[in-house]
Amino acid sequence: MAKAEATRSKVITPRSEDYSRWYTDVVLQSQMADYSPVKGCMVIRPLGYAVWEGMQRELDARFKETGHQNAYFPLFIPESFLHKEAKHVEGFAPELAVVTHGGGKKLEEPLVVRPTSETIIYAMFAKWIQSYRDLPLLINQWANVVRWEMRTRLFLRTTEFLWQEGHTAHATEAEAEEETLKILDIYRRFAEDHLAIPVYHGLKTESEKFAGALRTYCIEALMQDGKALQAGTSHNLGQNFARAFEVHYQTKDGTWEHVWNTSWGVSTRLVGALVMAHGDDNGLNLPPRLAPFQVVLVPIWKSDEEKAQITEAVTRIAADLKGKARVTADLRDEVSPGWKFNEWELKGVPLRLEIGPRDLKAGQATAVRRIDRRKTPVPLDAIPARIPEMLDEIQRDMLEKNRAFRDAGTHEAEDYTVFQKDLDDKGGFYRAWWCGSPDCEQQVKDETKATIRCIPMDGNRGSGRCLRCGASASRWVYFARAY
Ligand SMILES: [Zn+2]
Repeated sequence: MAKAEATRSKVITPRSEDYSRWYTDVVLQSQMADYSPVKGCMVIRPLGYAVWEGMQRELDARFKETGHQNAYFPLFIPESFLHKEAKHVEGFAPELAVVTHGGGKKLEEPLVVRPTSETIIYAMFAKWIQSYRDLPLLINQWANVVRWEMRTRLFLRTTEFLWQEGHTAHATEAEAEEETLKILDIYRRFAEDHLAIPVYHGLKTESEKFAGALRTYCIEALMQDGKALQAGTSHNLGQNFARAFEVHYQTKDGTWEHVWNTSWGVSTRLVGALVMAHGDDNGLNLPPRLAPFQVVLVPIWKSDEEKAQITEAVTRIAADLKGKARVTADLRDEVSPGWKFNEWELKGVPLRLEIGPRDLKAGQATAVRRIDRRKTPVPLDAIPARIPEMLDEIQRDMLEKNRAFRDAGTHEAEDYTVFQKDLDDKGGFYRAWWCGSPDCEQQVKDETKATIRCIPMDGNRGSGRCLRCGASASRWVYFARAY
């Protein structure tokens, strides 16, 4: 008890005071994650891991529905593999961890700890693909990767992180493009349906695309501090890796062609996005579809007689809800109901059901929503039907609240000076015309720290003046400062 009380007595820094400290406070105090003895690496604690498992389950099902299979490739990649694709090695070289010794001996060839697995996977594809009959090959891997980061933040940027990386091979460019966009659509829907985070989706510019890709598509979300967060990417790799690793196939006509590859991934960064998008000054706020516990039952009693009656009622309600919602009953004796309310709010459980003597007499429980603390009495016999409905309502309300926030945080930028001031004052996404010049893009980045988050794929054509240089432009893009 003393230990639990001590944990709770820590104060969460309010968002308005220091958003960055608020984020760290919430992640640590809710016990999503902890710092590890290894600098730059984190320990994902059971609550954080359960949220990740929920994401995994849902995405894995969607990948399998669309014909992908899971496989597993080695953690180590021969260093020479990375050098086979010039842009790829150039992009990843600064953040590689390299193993030079093994078993007490210097290795003949150093091994790189995978920063991503294109090279080793396509080396295997070269073995497995011979004929057009072997295509498409649709593989996904759930794994850890390592990218040596200088500045790290729990979930958002750590040296080691967990992710999924899809890797596919196709006979034609059109098929590879279709796959790339199909996955982007899965990510976009997943973000909205499960994370309750609406996203903008589109194409990355040449300077922001994946090292070795033909084209990179992404989904981008707005966090509460006005910064954008890239939440997933899907790459059309063209034939770059197929040429580097000699992945070819014999066509129906008997000629040999290189395959077209795609790769795509989301990571544990999404757990950080979930915290930042929905959390408040009391802690986490988990959308019902990803909350490990959707409902917490909190009994309230004074006398021993009340305790017996209410414990019985709570146990019955928990049994009634089995299979309908993920429920936990907090029957602890050593802490007060108020203390329990705070703790479960900190942990982001979407719905609390309070049952006290007065409730029991009235044949009801009091439901309290985490997102707005709205209280609703629910008749005991209506609980099994009503609770799942209430969870759906919360999921919907969280998405709509976030959509309203994202829309209100999306502005038009026409004047460069005003844009710079607005960025400082309120952050957010800015729709702005761009002439297409990498110089303008770079200057905006140097001068404002804002980058082009994505080029929308439709609805962004017309004519205007480039935000930076004033030259005529035929499309607008989204600028923002980003994580
Ligand atoms: Zn320009």
